[in-house]
Amino acid sequence: MDFPFACQQNKLLSTLSTLGIGGPARYYVEVGDIASMQQILMFCSEQALPFFILGKGSNCLFDDAGFDGVVIHNKIGFFENPQAGLFRVGAGYSFSLLGVKTAREGWSGLEFASGIPASVGGAVFMNAGANGWETCDSLLEVEYVDERGQLCVFSREKLEFSYRTSPFQHMSGAIVAASFFLSPLDSARQKQFQILDYRKKTQPYGEKSAGCIFRNPPGGHAGALIEQTGLKGQAIGGAKVSCMHANFIVNEGNARAREVLELIAHIKEEVLKQQGVELESEVRYISSLPKSI
Ligand SMILES: Cc1cc2nc3c(=O)[nH]c(=O)nc-3n(C[C@H](O)[C@H](O)[C@H](O)COP(=O)(O)OP(=O)(O)OC[C@H]3O[C@@H](n4cnc5c(N)ncnc54)[C@H](O)[C@@H]3O)c2cc1C
Repeated sequence: MDFPFACQQNKLLSTLSTLGIGGPARYYVEVGDIASMQQILMFCSEQALPFFILGKGSNCLFDDAGFDGVVIHNKIGFFENPQAGLFRVGAGYSFSLLGVKTAREGWSGLEFASGIPASVGGAVFMNAGANGWETCDSLLEVEYVDERGQLCVFSREKLEFSYRTSPFQHMSGAIVAASFFLSPLDSARQKQFQILDYRKKTQPYGEKSAGCIFRNPPGGHAGALIEQTGLKGQAIGGAKVSCMHANFIVNEGNARAREVLELIAHIKEEVLKQQGVELESEVRYISSLPKSI
């Protein structure tokens, strides 16, 4: 099969994930506009070629063997402010920058995004959140290209979000743009600074990680449970439970996906044994034989 798009072969996924882990992708393509996303998804569908949509790789654990398909890096990065409080941005736009930029201009609703190393598409897909706020709170609509290349627009009311969960997790196309409606607030910038400051003090910010590994169980905090289980600092190979925040696994250098998976399994087992709580992964493991979980 000829692959008719500008691509790189055998691109190392470790260079595209904040954990710094992952083998080669068979094909790697950067997509910068909606029409190109439509074409490439249509082609993948016609050829039955497995694909994976990549944002900023901040919630991905790629397999050591890589990905035997097309990794489509969403770089659709436009920013529009067509009317007061309304922001329409490409899904590849930095979520953190969106939070900073809007707060700086006195708009409230996305201050929490500051410091989350996500793309807007990844934040919508994961319904990213912090400090009691979630991405869906200020979302107005989502532009989406389905796996056959059709462009559709979903209004917020048609979409059911919950904690770190969006309907897009059960679909297989690409979020290409999102619109948010924000409220004016004089102290938005100050609030954004406070959130960023707290994040830097409580998270292993400069280290290689994928953020929180586990979802918080109802009424509890995964980090506190892991800490109470005495697992802070525990390591398997180069993968270690952060000493700063127990719900982070950091790659100390040359960690392998296998080691992270073993550490995740160990944490789950010990927390269940000692605390009676079953933890659920938040990080997305992308198997080399396509089908992400
Ligand atoms: C230091 C650090 C701090 C973090 N803090 C937080 C936090 O406070 N709150 C929080 O919720 N998360 C946090 N995270 C986790 C992570 O940033 C979020 O889960 C984020 O939403 C992932 O966005 P991304 O663009 O990096 O997605 P990726 O990691 O690239 O992808 C994650 C999933 O989203 C899918 N996806 C991405 N883009 C699209 C798209 N355009 N269309 C369809 N599917 C798509 C991918 O296929 C994949 O399944 C943190 C991570 C790090 C490293």
